Amino acid sequence: MFEDAPVDVGVMYEGERIRRKNMYIELGGPNIETKFELVKVRNPDDVEDDKITVIGPDIKDVKEGSSLPFGIYVEVAGKQIEEELEGVIERRIHEYCNYIEGFMHLNQRYDIWIRLSKKSFQKGLNSFSFVGKVLLKLFKSEMSFIEKMQITFITDPEKVREQWKEAMETYEARDARARGMKDEEVDKFYGCSLCQSFAPTHVCVITPQRFSNCGAISWFDARASSRIDPKGPLFEIEKGELIDPVKGEYTGANAAVKKKSLGAVSRVYLYTAFSYPHTSCGCFEGIAFYIPEVDGLGVVHRGFRENTVNGLPFSTMADSTAGGRQVDGFHGISIEYMRSPKFLQADGGWNRIVWIPSDIKERVKEFIPKELFDKITTEKDVKTIDELKEFLKTHEHPIVKRWKEVPAEVEAAEEEEVPAVAVAPLAATSFTAGGFKIILKDAKIHAKKVIIRTIKKR
Ligand code: SF4
Repeated sequence: MFEDAPVDVGVMYEGERIRRKNMYIELGGPNIETKFELVKVRNPDDVEDDKITVIGPDIKDVKEGSSLPFGIYVEVAGKQIEEELEGVIERRIHEYCNYIEGFMHLNQRYDIWIRLSKKSFQKGLNSFSFVGKVLLKLFKSEMSFIEKMQITFITDPEKVREQWKEAMETYEARDARARGMKDEEVDKFYGCSLCQSFAPTHVCVITPQRFSNCGAISWFDARASSRIDPKGPLFEIEKGELIDPVKGEYTGANAAVKKKSLGAVSRVYLYTAFSYPHTSCGCFEGIAFYIPEVDGLGVVHRGFRENTVNGLPFSTMADSTAGGRQVDGFHGISIEYMRSPKFLQADGGWNRIVWIPSDIKERVKEFIPKELFDKITTEKDVKTIDELKEFLKTHEHPIVKRWKEVPAEVEAAEEEEVPAVAVAPLAATSFTAGGFKIILKDAKIHAKKVIIRTIKKR
């Protein structure tokens, strides 16, 4: 398929990581503000089939080690293509770019991060036209409903900024389509297993009120994709019986997740960050994280560059969250899910949120209950857990009612031994010891002796 290519192309390169020391250039990424990938459906007359355009410096014109603003603008046409497929086609850019040897693509939409390796550059991958040819061939061979396609790569900073605005408006319009719809109004949910190349046990369950983790695929998008491409990574889920309306547990979702994760995950609660939370792949837009000191939840997004209120940056918490696991208290989410009336409803919803970055607070402000808005802190209000506690108390955040009085000083501890217990199975947990991270999967912990200490007030 790519005989005359300077580098190899194939699924075996998915998951390839390119470290900074091995990178030739970087496109988008955390240090670049404007970057995007966008697919638009056009009239056939407005698309010149197989056309590849580069606006701004091409790879060979860029200095080694550079990080550039970047946009991938794809226009498609076809009799069967409807606007609802834009998001689904767009999500495949990630997959197909990753088939190229030495070309790593992470994330989606306005968050893309691409690296080209020195080795692939030296082999001759020195123009976006090669990347364009690969994308054109893969899209047309795997999505036969695409009749015409043209691709524009943009590195000119002014042009990236201009098109980025259009991209942001398009994402918002797409996301708004599913708002207001309820899970109860549909008889089917949808699933996606596209991220299994990175997180083999991950399955997204997409409902009208729970957007995909990557924030790129709504219930409508998933429905359109599963209809037109039933053998693709998006598939129908029969809802089955509703087991728990608050946690959001359905027999159909459990069965689908169990089948697609090959038995690794057998239960999923759609609307909580605890017990059997929705699995997290690696391309979630944000993380809901538990803050035990205040019994509340914080949310941080990928673009937040500082440490969060618990002293950890997004990247550290992402390591604890990702991999297709169900991790109690570390929960991958999309920003759009924060606009859902079922957002973490089993945990208390917005009443449980105590900290979010200020720009996310601004983006979702219309969906935060008015009486809570000033009680939820950001990096501008507090920097530490102590400051957070004080703020929550003085602003009478509802979380304060959950707190129990903890004795300030202790004098002595009484110990009591109780018979051995078996603790409920854990999907996965981890701890560090002796410089190693130890991950336990499907562990049952049996304790021969349990010591319970009562702490006395002085
Ligand atoms: S995050 Fe979910 S919906 Fe998005 S591509 Fe991955 S599996 Fe699919």
